[in-house]
Amino acid sequence: MKEKKFKRIETKLIHSGEPEPRVQGAVSMPIFQSAMFETRSEPGYHDIEYIRLNNTPNAKVLHEKLAAIEGADDALVASSGMAAISTTLLTFLHNGDHLLVQNCLYGGTHDFVTKDLHTFGISYDFIDGNDPESWEEKRRPNTKAIYVETMTNPMLEVADHEAVVEFARAHGLTSMIDNTFASPINFRPIEHGFDLSLHSGTKYLNGHSDIVAGAVIGSSELVSQVKHRLDHLGGSLDPHACFLLHRGMKTLALRMRHHNESALKIARFLEEHNAVAKVNYPGLMSHPQHHRAGELFDGFSGMMSFEPKGGKDSAELFMRNVSIPIIAPSLGGVESLLTRPAATSHSGMSAEDRKRLGITDGLIRVSIGVEATEDLIEDFGAALDAIRSVSVFPEGRS
Ligand code: PLP
Repeated sequence: MKEKKFKRIETKLIHSGEPEPRVQGAVSMPIFQSAMFETRSEPGYHDIEYIRLNNTPNAKVLHEKLAAIEGADDALVASSGMAAISTTLLTFLHNGDHLLVQNCLYGGTHDFVTKDLHTFGISYDFIDGNDPESWEEKRRPNTKAIYVETMTNPMLEVADHEAVVEFARAHGLTSMIDNTFASPINFRPIEHGFDLSLHSGTKYLNGHSDIVAGAVIGSSELVSQVKHRLDHLGGSLDPHACFLLHRGMKTLALRMRHHNESALKIARFLEEHNAVAKVNYPGLMSHPQHHRAGELFDGFSGMMSFEPKGGKDSAELFMRNVSIPIIAPSLGGVESLLTRPAATSHSGMSAEDRKRLGITDGLIRVSIGVEATEDLIEDFGAALDAIRSVSVFPEGRS
């Protein structure tokens, strides 16, 4: 009954799923550091309250909150984003099945698909998320699922998500989307017809770069199937990490608002800078799917990538000369972070594949944090000036 008052996502983030009555009146959900709980009835195996089965109080509160904010029936936390992704794929794909998967993916997912799936007897084909016409010829009688990312890493492409949902429905496929880059503030896949939304909770959901976590969100029936598989694979989220994820999520709306606004200003600044060759950010008019992103998303997020003129040497120089962002992997935290995907997240991909997808050696991926936008612009500007002053690109002094 009370749930109905929590209409908007900002309110749901604070109040949905919280225990009623509050535990000993505690305003903040306490940590239940107990591996198991007394058995008061005779539950089946999957319902025995035990941390590995992801059903102790700190996990359950998160399940309700995650489901509420993405407008789904149910959710499940996992020990990492990769635990959520791999377990979900292995729940709906079995020996002999085939997967259609977007061609530009987070490196870990790409590696799992290309290096591990075949050991389970599962085959796959890559699809271009922006060319729905080409999907049918890749589909096989044994295709069971289609997998995409809301915005691809690191090129920030926005697939034709409406076509993905339609295609999945027309052919009885389970549609899965990694919604990590957008966060539930900017996009809620279940409301758009996706079957399952997946997250690395390590990133925006938690937002403080201090835990690794994952989440699966969808209908009770599908989430329960993933839970049963996860119960066996063992990738549960421990209560202390649940507590930190829970605490981080309460400020998700505030953080995302800043990430969205700051990243848009910084992307515009970079695009206009004469030491920059290219900026990939869905909020820019120049982005090939800008119109679609504007229709689907409530914000464009804090992730972007760009190429300074002069390739890898310029990129390395830029990264040595910025003083605010930290050179580190991962994303979605309060600190701005930089990586060079060709040397880090996408180094497992062949040079040929990287080239085909536009992941050049000079591409820098940026996760804009919540520092003052003007400080970041000044810092980036100074680092770009440093590139110009050593003239690593021929037209540098223009
Ligand atoms: N999905 C995306 C888009 C990511 O960027 C990452 C990690 O960087 C993952 C999934 C995997 O998440 P985790 O590191 O929590 O396993």
